[in-house]
Amino acid sequence: MTNTGINDHPPADRFSPGEAISREALLSAPLADLLARAAALRDAGHGTVQTYSPKVFIPLTQLCRDSCHYCTFAHPPRKGERAYLTREEVLAIARAGAQQGCAEALFTLGDKPELRYRAAREELAALGHETTLSYLAEMCELVLRETGLLPHVNAGVMGAAEIAALRKVSVSQGLMLETASPRLMAKGAAHHGSPDKDPAVRLETIRLAGESAVPFTTGILIGIGETRAERLDALFALKALHDRHGHIQEIIVQNFRAKPGTRMADAPEPDLADHLWTIAAARIIFGAGMSIQAPPNLRAEHAALIGAGINDWGGISPVTADHVNPEAPWPHIDDLARDTALAGRTLVPRLGIYPAYLARPGTWLDPALATPATRLSDSHGLMRNAGREGDWSPGAIRPLPALSPEGAHDPAVASVLASLAGGAEPDAAMAITLFGARGPDVALVCAAADRLRWETAGDTVSWVVNRNINYTNICLHKCGFCAFSKGRGHESLRGQPYDLDLAEVTRRAREAWERGATEVCMQGGIHPHYTGDTYLALLRAVKEAVPGLHVHAFSPLEVWHGAQTLGLSLAEYLARLKDAGLASLPGTAAEILDDEVRAVICPDKLDTAQWFAVMEAAHALGLRTTATIMFGHVERPVHWARHLLRIRALQARTGGFTEFVPLPFVHMEAPMYLKGAARRGPTWRETLLMHAVARLVLHPLIGNIQTSWVKLGPEGAAACLQAGVNDLGGTLMNESISRAAGTGHGQEMPPHAMEALIGSLGRQSRQRSTLYGSVPAERREATRSAGDLAEIVLTPVRSRRQSEPA
Ligand code: SF4
Repeated sequence: MTNTGINDHPPADRFSPGEAISREALLSAPLADLLARAAALRDAGHGTVQTYSPKVFIPLTQLCRDSCHYCTFAHPPRKGERAYLTREEVLAIARAGAQQGCAEALFTLGDKPELRYRAAREELAALGHETTLSYLAEMCELVLRETGLLPHVNAGVMGAAEIAALRKVSVSQGLMLETASPRLMAKGAAHHGSPDKDPAVRLETIRLAGESAVPFTTGILIGIGETRAERLDALFALKALHDRHGHIQEIIVQNFRAKPGTRMADAPEPDLADHLWTIAAARIIFGAGMSIQAPPNLRAEHAALIGAGINDWGGISPVTADHVNPEAPWPHIDDLARDTALAGRTLVPRLGIYPAYLARPGTWLDPALATPATRLSDSHGLMRNAGREGDWSPGAIRPLPALSPEGAHDPAVASVLASLAGGAEPDAAMAITLFGARGPDVALVCAAADRLRWETAGDTVSWVVNRNINYTNICLHKCGFCAFSKGRGHESLRGQPYDLDLAEVTRRAREAWERGATEVCMQGGIHPHYTGDTYLALLRAVKEAVPGLHVHAFSPLEVWHGAQTLGLSLAEYLARLKDAGLASLPGTAAEILDDEVRAVICPDKLDTAQWFAVMEAAHALGLRTTATIMFGHVERPVHWARHLLRIRALQARTGGFTEFVPLPFVHMEAPMYLKGAARRGPTWRETLLMHAVARLVLHPLIGNIQTSWVKLGPEGAAACLQAGVNDLGGTLMNESISRAAGTGHGQEMPPHAMEALIGSLGRQSRQRSTLYGSVPAERREATRSAGDLAEIVLTPVRSRRQSEPA
């Protein structure tokens, strides 16, 4: 199985660089052999994903104390020209980039011009700074604060204190080593007169960046007078630093371009074969996981560059020129996407910090940068919803983004689909591969899931008339994603604490019955006064008031709490609930069934094994349950895979799950999002794939996959119905948990709206019971003549305490 393009660990941790290769072998091997080996390594590390960073280029100053012979970027002070961009100019560039969907602000500038030019010193003084780097730090902070773009700084040679200061305001830093050859410092050579181009000085800066845990971009510039052996020296020197610190996130192999007006205007440029050889050597030296980059504006032979083992095109700006190579405009993204697809890869936007580093913000990022970077990222640590995909989150009233089908098919995705279609048992690697589908593979996965849906459930879409009753929002727990509960730490969230009087609970149940409901779904926070008897009392009250209602109630957390407070085993307590009329249980409180994630998002709640223990005990008593997943916050696809496979394993033993319900995380009011520790929910691509992959992985053990209209709206639900989903869930009448989290999709989807939605897809609508049985004609008629809901009463906390059920 090939990797789907995302590394959760710094490259050296996860991917063997392959057998050690000697300089001699690299220098003597036939080019075709090197290219084949490099491309294979790249595919093993990155699958078919080819990244680029949508960025703006901010040339803060073009003065430089060095005078490299190939450079047109740097120039001496010019009369009438400012030495530095002003704050307003910097912001204007950044804002234009933000409007165009960029995520990175690349600050590139000359090296310490104040050491050489009085004009620089004077202008810095007028700006309130002594050094270029301190002005740069202020500009990074300004851009981050005002536009949300993530700064990446290319600020030349630095000391530890300067690196540390810039680390506070940037997600990554960069310095091209260019060459490891001190020969090029000699008179007449490219770096003569450029003290900062001394390889030892540059390697020291890169080492210091490693010590300071800065995700770092570096690379070599080829064709400036160095030999191939010297290029290898440079690559091996960088590899040694990376082996020690793990901080090099990408290696650029840049080709020298002769520029008119420079001393090297007539120097020969490296030819394509030479460039390809160097890229392949870099890939082989650094191994599968490293990001190897070649700028797409400096060489038109994009397919050949890909063939040599690159996986990244670097930063590309829709707004600004490449100020270092102004003669070479960036390719248009659409053209680059097409070239990339023709070469068998799919162009995907990334951030200025790579996924492996973003996955460990505590190690690699200043806390001030962790939040904005996390919010711009998707579950793979790449850029979320870039460009044409728009800015969409579950719960938001926005048009659905159109997923671009552009790109190349990943053979790994097709292979997993074929295996599953052939009856193979799904495993984690298969699920992760499917979750990594991009470009045209998203539609492929959805189509495969929808075929299974058709085989399993035909064209019928089912739904149930039910009412949610959330009897209290007081809760002992402090789940980071929960905007519903009121308790310690949640006071500032919207809504008042309440604890429904039994009379209000039964009134709502009666009203639901009158409006045609066949089910009430009851769950709530873990009120400190609630015991197992409280749940029994709630249940009995509803069953007494409306005996015909199916009571679908009590999350595994509530069952656990109820059993504990009464000193009963799970089986004993569930048996009491069943005797009192409980008919089935919601599979909520599942979030992500993996303790690695639960430790972050709900550390004081029941753990994975406890959740499954409740479900297994319920199934053993003949109580059916649903199963859910809440996704799109801090977890990664590996956790989704584990969650699905654990659900599948229990279902294989008990057969007790009626359906699987993906619940996209609604971030707007969630405490952990407000604290800056969570993503903005799943992207639309991830949302669709979750429904489709659930169908594929849980087949044939769980036949019903449900979508949440509350979180996705009718349009989103309709799209999921074409990606493996056969059930629309309940009409709900009073949805309040997702609403508290910020969704704008309403509290009720009445039967006529369900039918209209299903009809618009040419499918057949079926009103079902909770357990997917048929519904008596009398109930169906009652739904047609349902009146408006009466105003609900939210019993204030004190009065509930007075009438607490025995
Ligand atoms: S998710 Fe449930 S247990 Fe967690 S805080 Fe909210 S109401 Fe309480």
